[in-house]
Amino acid sequence: MLLGGGATGSLRGELKLAGDGGRLRGTIWLQNSDVPVELSSIRADGTALAFTAEADGRLRFTGALNGGALRGVAATDSGTARPWSAAPLSPIAEYYPVLPRFTLRQVIAGRSGMELRLPGPWVAAARAEVPAGEPAAYAALARAAGVAALEGEALTSTSPLRAMGVARRDEVTAAARRTLLAMRAQVPPGSVLTEFDRIFRPRGSWIIDVHDAALAAARAGTPTLALEQAAPALASIGWLPREAEAGAESVALALYRLHALGARDTTGMETLREQMRGASPASARAVDLLLRGYDAGAEWHAGALRFLLVAPWIRSDGAPASIAGRMRADWRGSGAPGADSLEVPAIVSRPFGYPQAVPRYGVPPQLFARIVTADNWSAREWLGRHGPPALLEALRRTPADYGEAASVEGDGETFRLTTVRRQSGEATNGFLEPHDAILIDPAYMPLLALGAVVHEWQHLAFERLRRLDLRPGGGDVVTFPATDPFVAEGLAEWRTERLLAPLAARFPLLGMGEAEKRARLARTRADEQHVLGYAMVRALAGIVPDEARQLALLLDAAEDPRAVTQAPEVRRAWARFGGPELVVSAPSRRVLIPETTFTIEDGFPDIIGTRIVVPAAARPR
Ligand SMILES: [Zn+2]
Repeated sequence: MLLGGGATGSLRGELKLAGDGGRLRGTIWLQNSDVPVELSSIRADGTALAFTAEADGRLRFTGALNGGALRGVAATDSGTARPWSAAPLSPIAEYYPVLPRFTLRQVIAGRSGMELRLPGPWVAAARAEVPAGEPAAYAALARAAGVAALEGEALTSTSPLRAMGVARRDEVTAAARRTLLAMRAQVPPGSVLTEFDRIFRPRGSWIIDVHDAALAAARAGTPTLALEQAAPALASIGWLPREAEAGAESVALALYRLHALGARDTTGMETLREQMRGASPASARAVDLLLRGYDAGAEWHAGALRFLLVAPWIRSDGAPASIAGRMRADWRGSGAPGADSLEVPAIVSRPFGYPQAVPRYGVPPQLFARIVTADNWSAREWLGRHGPPALLEALRRTPADYGEAASVEGDGETFRLTTVRRQSGEATNGFLEPHDAILIDPAYMPLLALGAVVHEWQHLAFERLRRLDLRPGGGDVVTFPATDPFVAEGLAEWRTERLLAPLAARFPLLGMGEAEKRARLARTRADEQHVLGYAMVRALAGIVPDEARQLALLLDAAEDPRAVTQAPEVRRAWARFGGPELVVSAPSRRVLIPETTFTIEDGFPDIIGTRIVVPAAARPR
């Protein structure tokens, strides 16, 4: 509706009328009011309508329905007549006379300083008790899975390619088929088995990884399509070594790399496509078909991992178990609050170019309530209608940006000034994400990637606990504590290995992915975070058997690893270990996202105020 004749011009508003057992009820909500007000003395007769409301002063509205619109005058007590009109809105239209207004509190996140420090006794205990990278454990799993335990340079160069199905493919796919067959043999009959077959053995032939899935999808429309048909076009753009030598592995690798390029550079992709069409049109068509197949294959990959994570496909003493169920039970066993409702993260395909997965941290409701306030009635309505994730999505659409080099000087510390949108795009783990998610490379063979997915989920579960536990303080500023990467990686490695151990005993390939990763990383440096962190957490678990106590120590250690060696029981158990702190160079700077007040219209935020609280009290430890 529009109400004219006011001191500040026309006012927009919303008039709501509803029949209620023959009686009319309603509200009016003008743009200069934060909330709707009730109508009184409503009278309707034929096409005539009258009501009274405390809207922009006390007004008596009279009007008539004509051609679908209401039109009339609103009289003040002193007799001034103001014109008004109203036209119907669709019942599903979302209309706010006053735009929803929110405030995002100032957030400080990240780690500051030049180095990480680990207490000497913890490092010494870890190194004494766990051989770096545990090559023997990895070799045993590989042998049991029926694949070669790679060593030396091959561990660095070949193992990632094998995990992506483009090196030693015959060996690894045979092992995967054997594993799937053994897994299938113990899946209880019924819908889970049907789903298992739909994913891994549709129409009787195995689909092991994205390459199989891509070829199957491409062949659905073109049954005679063969991988080799793509070779001439790929060779013409220099993406195959030489046509004569190009085997299925190098064709699959080239196609996967093109798929990855398409995901991040559509222009570059189009240029290559044109080159291929010019050089070898028939082969270029095969490439196009197969690339569409890789799109479908990436979806298959995410679906396969989700199935392995969520479906109760594991025969056990009681009811069939799922990895997700075991994950929740495991965290419950550590006394973690809310473990039973631990959300299964979304699995999102992201071509990294190597076997890689990363967690993206969502915002649990308790944290959302701390960082965002709804400043008016519309905002509360909007949140009720769309929910917190939609607001976090909207924050990603703000055009505001401070550029790459913006900084704020605090008390002895320089903060990088940034926005939710920029930080979310730049940080590996995202920032204030709408949902917990795991990004994973689609070529990471699902049976090997399962360990990585569980590992990332452990990160999400641990970080969620830390965020629920944010200490109050700093007034309007919310400070995320920094996470020590050795503790975080160690916890994820150790809990994943423990969770998957019963499965790895039956299906060794499922345990091999993570074991191989640690063996490979151990070659890069002795103090690699996963390798040393794993040994540290495992050593700690060995002397602190109480699960809840162990987790409490690790939560403290994530903020400051010295918390562990200061604990009395640890000091006693590790009295024989000493040595200086291990100092690892890791320069980093904290980020500051200013307090931002904004309205939202059609899902897009409009910033109306920005405030920086210069950090003085919030000094790093
Ligand atoms: Zn990790």
